[in-house]
Formats: sequence, C-alpha cells, structure tokens
Amino acid sequence: MKKKLFIPGPVDVSEDVLKKMSTSMIGHRTKEASDLQRSISQKMMKVMYTKNQIMLSTSSGSGLMEGAVRSCTKKRAAVFSIGAFGDRWFDMALYNGVPADKFSSEWGSPTTPEMVDRTLSTGKYDLITITHNETSTGVMNPIEEIAEVVKKYPEVIFCLDTVSSLGGTKIEVDRLNVDICIASTQKCLGLPPGMAICSISEKAIEAAKKVKNRGYYFDLLKMYEYIKKKDHQYPSTPSLSHMFALDYQLDKILEEGLENRFIRHENMAKYVRAWAKENFSLFADEKYASNTLTTIKNSKNISVAELNIKLKEHGYIISNGYGILKEQTFRIAHMAETTLDEIKALLETINNILNL
Ligand SMILES: *Cc1c(COP(=O)(O)O)cnc(C)c1O
Repeated sequence: MKKKLFIPGPVDVSEDVLKKMSTSMIGHRTKEASDLQRSISQKMMKVMYTKNQIMLSTSSGSGLMEGAVRSCTKKRAAVFSIGAFGDRWFDMALYNGVPADKFSSEWGSPTTPEMVDRTLSTGKYDLITITHNETSTGVMNPIEEIAEVVKKYPEVIFCLDTVSSLGGTKIEVDRLNVDICIASTQKCLGLPPGMAICSISEKAIEAAKKVKNRGYYFDLLKMYEYIKKKDHQYPSTPSLSHMFALDYQLDKILEEGLENRFIRHENMAKYVRAWAKENFSLFADEKYASNTLTTIKNSKNISVAELNIKLKEHGYIISNGYGILKEQTFRIAHMAETTLDEIKALLETINNILNL
C-alpha cells in the first residue's frame, strides 16, 4: 500500500511531476539545457522574490550549505543554531577548516535579533548563517527582525537556510538582503530529493573571489562564473531529470499562486497547532511556531514508534523526534502539496488510534 507522507521531507510528489523525471535525456552542453536552466531561474526568482542569480546543485541542500560557508568566509563565520540543522552548519565550517563560532539558542527558542546584533558588533565576522525554519524543533526564526539587524553590517555575507520553508512561506530575498538563500527540492517545493537551489548576490560573489580554498564541487564562485560564461550551464553534469521536473513543478506552484500557497500552509499549521495544544503541547515557543511543520511535545508519554506502526496500517507516516528528541516529541509536516483535508483525516486517525 502506498503511504501518505507527513514527514518533513521527502514529501509526496504528484504523479505528473514524477512523470517529468522520466523525460528523455538531452545533452548537458546543448542549447536546450541552457534554455531549461534559464527557464527554471526565471521562475525561481519569483518564488524567492529576487533578482539575484539562481544556481542549481546536484546534491541535497547540505551541499550548498557547505559550499556557502566555505566559499564565502574569509575572516570568520558566525553560525547561529537553534537545533540540529544549525549545528550541522557549524560542523561543516569546522570540517572544512573555516574559522567559525557557534551561537546556540535553547531548543524550541529562536535566534534573537539582539544576539545577532551583539555578535556582529564585535567586527570579528564576515559571514553569518541563520536557519530560517529549524526542522528539528519546529521553530521559524523571526527573519524580518533578524534581517533588519544584519542590514546594519553591510560587509557581512548573510546566508539563510530555507530548506524546509521555501515554497511554503514567503521569503523575500532582496527585501531581506539575503546574500545566499538555500533550498532543497524534497521539502516545500514538492519534488524528489537530489537537487538543491540557491540565490547568490554579487556581494557574495565578490567575497568568494577573496577566498583561496573554496573546494571544488561546491565552489560557488566557479559555479557562478560557469553559468555566466557558458549560458546557464554547469561545470559538471547536473541532474537533468530533476531540472525537467522542477521546471514543470514551478509552473504548477505559480499557477496555484504564491500567496495562495502560503495561506494554504498557514491554515494547515494553524489546524495542527490547535490539535497539538488540545491534546499534547507545542515544543516550540508558539510565537515562533513553524508554518511548514509542527513539533509536538509528547506530553502524554505515548510510544511514538507504536503510533507510527499503527498509522502505517492506515496508510500514513509521521515523523518521530529528531535525534535526542526521538521519543520526547513527534513531528507532523504540512508542506508542499498536502491539503487541509488530508491533515484533518490524519489527525482524525491519530485521535482514533490514541482514543483522544
Ligand atoms: C532537511 C534540512 C536540511 C538538509 O537538507 P538536505 O537536502 O537533506 O541536505 C537542512 N536544513 C534544514 C532546515 C532542513 O530541514
């Protein structure tokens, strides 16, 4: 039996989008390949509200996160962590020999604009990383307020992880002055895993030019220069299958309408939060609760593993807690093409299983 996924990636992919993945191959050095990438870029610019260059990477989102911190840090990176994915970004800096400091918030809480201001005012840092939507804790950072503070430090490169939020909530890259905004295909964009997408500013490119060891595969400057010189092609062979599907899925996203899509995500989030508060409690500070997934505190001490086994019999899969939160929390994703009716049916089933 096919299972409906309510996990924060990979998400369910529509049949028609899956079919596009099996489009016949074209040469990656052809005009068709250039046209395909250009078409994707134009649509992605709308989804990201930016005029910056769009770059695709045949990797998951982590590849571009590693590429960003390594390619653009000359002095020292300030990594703000509110959970597992912020911690990962710090490890990437460490393992690549990039000087970095980590500024952690308690899990369930956001990065505050004050923390960012205090850190950047030291003048020690030339790059900052922020997790927009922390998928382990279900916290969505107050990005507007954080961006206001970062604007005070125009020499700092602003990197934003929107892997689990882009396509499900509004991220206005240009208005927020984000230099590198990163997303993956398998979350709110509703595609199979295997490709990552970023926007990159001229400022970030200029910064990369001053960095010596940018690595090879994830050297963002090399990618950028190749796109510019070779009319939207890549140094190595990209996943053309993903590109066919992405180009098509972006049409569907724009057809739904970005605002409609964001409202649909918000409505699902509100519904799940109300259910969680009635029956359990929220792990995240509610003021910062995510619109794309909800992390629920297992206040009734149920067996999350057992719940998932029973849900599978009904054709549903939800997520247990991340890492150390495995049994302490569980997570329900409400992203990509999921509808409010599907969320209602899932919660109804959970109510029946748990006798809530
Ligand atoms: C999933 C996720 C990542 C990692 O993305 P991959 O595509 O799996 O490499 C990074 N950050 C956040 C917030 C995520 O949810």
